Amino acid sequence: MKKLMIEIGRDVLSKPIIAEVILETGAKLNIERAKIDSESGEVVLNVPAADVERVKEAFGKWGVHVRPIIHPVVKDENACIHCGACISVCPVRVFSFEEDGSVVANEEECIMCGVCITMCPVRALRIS
Ligand code: SF4
Ligand code: SF4
Repeated sequence: MKKLMIEIGRDVLSKPIIAEVILETGAKLNIERAKIDSESGEVVLNVPAADVERVKEAFGKWGVHVRPIIHPVVKDENACIHCGACISVCPVRVFSFEEDGSVVANEEECIMCGVCITMCPVRALRIS
């Protein structure tokens, strides 16, 4: 699976774009995060790797900007004090303790919610 961030403009916000793309491509899209207000929408989708190009093309027809999320959260290993605060707040379990007590990140699972960034006491985390 690959993660895609789609940015939906106001002009097409009321349209059922995601449903249309699923119908057109047959891709099994999974919505991981959605932030939508009256002006715009930002949605993180999990997309089967084989369908990524067709999905991007289908969103493009609606004027929706699509960009892949590769390594969204970055941990500064020199700054991290392995306190574990990020483990408890991350909704998709990106962080975990190793047996030696250090905290490691599985960045590929990140959905860019940003919660860990503000929780880290030493500002060791950022969105790339
Ligand atoms: S919250 Fe910051 S300092 Fe604590 S384990 Fe996570 S990255 Fe390291
Ligand atoms: S930005 Fe959100 S999803 Fe990504 S690692 Fe931080 S808490 Fe987890």
